Amino acid sequence: MVSRVIPVDPFDLVIFGGTGDLARRKILPALFRRFVAGQIPDGSSIVGAARSEIDDAEYKSLVKDALREFHPGDLPEDMLSGFLNILHYVQVDATGDQGWDALAKLARPDVVRAFYFSVGPSLFGALAERLHHHGLVDPETRIVVEKPFGRDLETARALNTSLAAHFEECQIYRIDHYLGKETVQNLMAIRFGNMLFEPLWNSQYVDHIQITVAETVGVQGRGEYYDRSGAMRDMVQNHLMQLLCLIAMEPPAKFDPDAVRDEKLKVIRALDPVEPADLVRGQYLADGDRAGYLEDAEDPASKTESFAAMKVHVSNWRWAGTPFYLRTGKRLKARASEIAVVFKETPHSIFDEDAGRHRNTLSIRLQPNEGIDLDVTIKEPGPGGMRLIDVPLDMTFSEALGPESEASADAYERLIMDVIRGNQTLFMRGDEVEAAWAWTDPIIQGWETRGDRPEPYETGSSGPEDALALMHRDGRRWREIRE
Ligand code: NAD
Repeated sequence: MVSRVIPVDPFDLVIFGGTGDLARRKILPALFRRFVAGQIPDGSSIVGAARSEIDDAEYKSLVKDALREFHPGDLPEDMLSGFLNILHYVQVDATGDQGWDALAKLARPDVVRAFYFSVGPSLFGALAERLHHHGLVDPETRIVVEKPFGRDLETARALNTSLAAHFEECQIYRIDHYLGKETVQNLMAIRFGNMLFEPLWNSQYVDHIQITVAETVGVQGRGEYYDRSGAMRDMVQNHLMQLLCLIAMEPPAKFDPDAVRDEKLKVIRALDPVEPADLVRGQYLADGDRAGYLEDAEDPASKTESFAAMKVHVSNWRWAGTPFYLRTGKRLKARASEIAVVFKETPHSIFDEDAGRHRNTLSIRLQPNEGIDLDVTIKEPGPGGMRLIDVPLDMTFSEALGPESEASADAYERLIMDVIRGNQTLFMRGDEVEAAWAWTDPIIQGWETRGDRPEPYETGSSGPEDALALMHRDGRRWREIRE
């Protein structure tokens, strides 16, 4: 399979927070891979901008170390030196005057300029204001902002207002890296590029939908930060919500940014408030040498959840009566993210009871091992009458397309190149983010008002018992969490 690299014009990309964890782990390795793929044209430059007092040479050495640590596979010497050649560093203070003149010289007005805000959200407003003040904003300028985009509706609105003071919405790229995953985009291709699924994609044929994002790690030294957030803010409001939107949305008229985002917004606005009985929160327990959540959070009285599960209803014609079950948590039995569309049983079985009743399930694996499975019911081979079994029609991308195909590109690679191309389809619009908070806020406020403690769960389990009961009482069960 020959991969196709779509050329872009030369650009200047400035990474505020260019020495930080996210830049070293994700952004710079992603840029390096695009460089190796030949997608960063001659004449482009990448500028790290941060508070550290270092020069160009020290920055290149920091980047080289980061690539050694975080770039999977070999680092060909010629590619590495070519990449380092287009790197620069400027010491900048987001809240002061230092460094801005030097930056203005490096980020040229005659090419696309993109500014990646890989810093805490408290600096977003200051950066937007200074970019404007130093003449770095023109209609072709783009800014990329990282999560978390606010911690509730009020703070998200304030962030939107501070960015809108200097940028048009079409210049603002709010990243949700889940949307950059190949499988997530394939979900749209599967739904809207095939005749097979869309006629069945509604409450008449779909029994329910499950969305699981499970991690095996705990809060890992970020306990204090995480404790102010919790699974609902950190995962559900953004990542799980975006996945739900892509499953539930109506077909957009075109695959263009506003058409897609308009449809996603309608889904968020159609979400019912969630009843307390349909919500479960949990905190992981200690396991051997590994501390429990309360110890990791350094607060024995913490009521922040490291696990959340819920039953959600999308109140519209398509989905009335088909529940969406969402769950996400840390220290679970496997690192696995998947969406499962579970279809209804056939209305009548022509086979006798021994054959069993089965359901088709379309499962979309986001990690690891991205791919799509469709469970189809067939006859168990061999003599002995009609017994039914499910077999998967498997489309594992690395097997179907080869490990070196563009399908293996990381979400950050794809999203950064979309910024350069000016394609906002896979980025969240301001009104979408606000609508997601407007739905999330009452859930969190309800928890805070009731003051219940999250239910403890074992490390390595599937989460709290109540999460299992959430489905059992509806006569359904969660799919196994497995890699
Ligand atoms: P970090 O603390 O490792 O790095 C922060 C960077 O910001 C450093 O380069 C620092 O020099 C720079 N900085 C801080 N104050 C500054 C100022 N006044 N002027 C100029 N530069 C300044 O943080 P991180 O983990 O890289 O996270 C960056 C952003 O990305 C945060 O908003 C975070 O929530 C988000 N994020 C991080 C991750 C991750 O895996 N690290 C994942 C998703 C989102």
